[in-house]
Amino acid sequence: MNKTIEYIVGDGIGPEVFAAARPVIDAAVAKAYGDSRKLSWHELLAGEKAFKETGNYLPQETLDALAKAELAMKGPLGTPVGGGIRSLNVTMRQVLDLYACIRPIKYFQGIESPVKRPDLVDMIVFRENTEDVYAGIEWASGTPEAKRLIEFLESMGKKVDATAGIGIKPMTPAGSKRLVRKAIEHAVSQGKPNVTLVHKGNIMKFTEGGFRAWGYELAAEEFADQVMTEQQAKEGGTKPVVIKDRIADAMFQEVLIRPEQYSVIATTNLNGDYISDALAAQVGGLGLAPGVNMSASLAFFEATHGTAPTIAGMDKANPGSLVLCGAMLLEHVGWFEAAKLIHDAMDKVISAKTVTVDLASQIPGSTTVGCKAFGELLQKNF
Ligand code: NAD
Repeated sequence: MNKTIEYIVGDGIGPEVFAAARPVIDAAVAKAYGDSRKLSWHELLAGEKAFKETGNYLPQETLDALAKAELAMKGPLGTPVGGGIRSLNVTMRQVLDLYACIRPIKYFQGIESPVKRPDLVDMIVFRENTEDVYAGIEWASGTPEAKRLIEFLESMGKKVDATAGIGIKPMTPAGSKRLVRKAIEHAVSQGKPNVTLVHKGNIMKFTEGGFRAWGYELAAEEFADQVMTEQQAKEGGTKPVVIKDRIADAMFQEVLIRPEQYSVIATTNLNGDYISDALAAQVGGLGLAPGVNMSASLAFFEATHGTAPTIAGMDKANPGSLVLCGAMLLEHVGWFEAAKLIHDAMDKVISAKTVTVDLASQIPGSTTVGCKAFGELLQKNF
C-alpha cells in the first residue's frame, strides 16, 4: 500500500512548514501501519524555487506531472510581481480544472474564538471553484466592450446605466452538479448527517436558484437510496443524509446561532469564499485551516495561509495547516487511523498550550515553540 504525493514546498515560510509537517505525516502512517503502508514524496518545482532553477515560475513539467497525479500537496506560493502571471494558484486551478475547493472547519480547544461555543462547529465547505462572478468575464466602466454589452442588453429589453462596469455570472447545471455530487459523496462516505445547499436563489433566480434546483435534482438522480429532503425527514424518513438548502444571508446567521445543525455545505463560488473565511474566524482564525482543491482525478491539498514573508526563515511559522492537510489527505485515501493520530496529537499539543508564536499570542499562559519543535512535539504525542 504505497501512495505517491507530488509536492511543491512553496515560497516564504513554505520550505520550513513543509520540512516540519512532512515528518509528522510520515510518522503517523508508520505508527498506524508499520511498514505495510507508505507515502512516497516526489517534489515538483513552482514559485521562487522554480524561477531560480528554470527561469520559469510554473514549469510545464510541473503542470504535466500534476495533470497525471492523484495526490499532491503544496505550501503557499507568492504572487510573482510582473512576468505576466496573475497568480500561480489561480493558474493551476484553471489549467488543472480544480473545480471543488474544500475546507473543513473544526475547533481546537484553547484557541481564542469570538463566539461562546466554537466547539459546536464541525463543518466542511465545498465551494464551486470555476464558475460564477469569479470566471473573470468583466469589463470596466466606460470601455467600448462595456458600452457594447450595455447596448446589447438594451436590445434585450434590459435598461443598464451607460456608465456601468459589467460583470457576468455564468453558472451551469454540469458545473453545479459535479460540485454537489462531491459534497454528497463526502457526506455518504464519511457518515455526515446533512448537506446544505447555500445559495441566493431568491434574488438571482437563474444562477443561484439554478444551483439549488440542480443540486436537488442531482441528489434525487444519483443518491436516492442515501438522501432525503428536510420535508421527507419531518415525515419520518430514515435515509442517512438530509439535503437542505438555505439562502446565503440566513446561513451566515444559522452558522452562528445553530452551528450544530450544519455539517456539509455545498455552495457557489462567491458565497463559498465568504462563508469559508467567516467559519474559519468563528473557530479562531485562518492560521490552522487546511484545504484541498479537487479535479475529477487530482486531490491537491494546500496550506490556506500565505507565504508570511516577515517571518520566513526564522523558524517561527506554524506548520499546523500543512499538518492538517496531511490528515485530510490520509482520510481521503481511507487511512483513517493515521489521520486520527494527527488530529488527536494536534488536540493534545494545543490544549497543553505549547504552540507557535501566532497561537501563543491568543492563548494566555502558553509556551512558545519554533516551527520544527512544534512538528516534533506532535510526533511525541502520537
Ligand atoms: P499571509 O497568510 O502570508 O500572512 C497574513 C498574516 O498571518 C501575517 O501576519 C503572517 O505572518 C501570518 N501567518 C500566515 N501564515 C502563518 C503561519 N503558518 N504561521 C504563523 N503566522 C502566519 O497573507 P498575506 O500577507 O496577505 O500574503 C503574503 C503572500 O502570500 C502574498 O504573495 C499572497 O499572494 C500569498 N498567498 C498565497 C496563498 C496560497 O498560496 N494559498 C494564500 C494567501 C496568500
